[in-house]
Amino acid sequence: MLMQKEREQVVEYGKMMSAARLSTGTSGNISVYNAELGYMAISPSGLDYFSTTPEDVVVTDLNGNIVDGTRKPSSEWGLHTIFYKNKPDIGAVVHTHSMYCTVFASLGQPVKAIHYVIGDTGVAEVPCAPYYPFGTEELAKAAIETCGESKAVLLGNHGLVTCGKNLKSAYGLACNMEYIAELQYRAMCIGQPNYLSKEQMDDVMERFKSYGQPGAKKSGY
Ligand code: 13P
Ligand code: ZN
Repeated sequence: MLMQKEREQVVEYGKMMSAARLSTGTSGNISVYNAELGYMAISPSGLDYFSTTPEDVVVTDLNGNIVDGTRKPSSEWGLHTIFYKNKPDIGAVVHTHSMYCTVFASLGQPVKAIHYVIGDTGVAEVPCAPYYPFGTEELAKAAIETCGESKAVLLGNHGLVTCGKNLKSAYGLACNMEYIAELQYRAMCIGQPNYLSKEQMDDVMERFKSYGQPGAKKSGY
């Protein structure tokens, strides 16, 4: 089976995403990119994550042409490919409808530096793209334009997109984003949050460079 390892990963992380309630029902989608082949393995459209098998995962090129698989690819295949086309060092994209990120996406408000782990996105504030219908080229374009240098972007009235060098990293960032968005929501419920300043976030970014075990691969958490 072409891209068997990547397809198995899509299945494994789809179940994790669903179990962690980052997506409900068949919402959200996941892809892994193989730069050598120039193909991505993407979750099938509208299939329950717990009944999806590696054979159900679809392999396409970056124009959305199916290279292997019998299923219809995620309706957001264009959202995934536009990230691979514009961010050369990424290897995975995760899209969720997680609750607290979608609350801010529904307000058209960014997720801010209420906690230093937002630094995992590479920026101090995660912006929100304007609303466009799911599965459209307009949505894909708005997402990548709004995302800029960030590894995460909110989709207006829709959800979240994260990317990373691999699926562990992109998925970990989706978990962290939901944590930060929940924190911001809860803090806003009882007061006016203190957000970290640009200087404080620059300092965090510097400290992240030496975080963790020396020489160990950073997971993105
Ligand atoms: P798919 O089931 O086609 O991946 O769509 C889910 C989704 O979240 C659309 O934005
Ligand atoms: Zn969606």
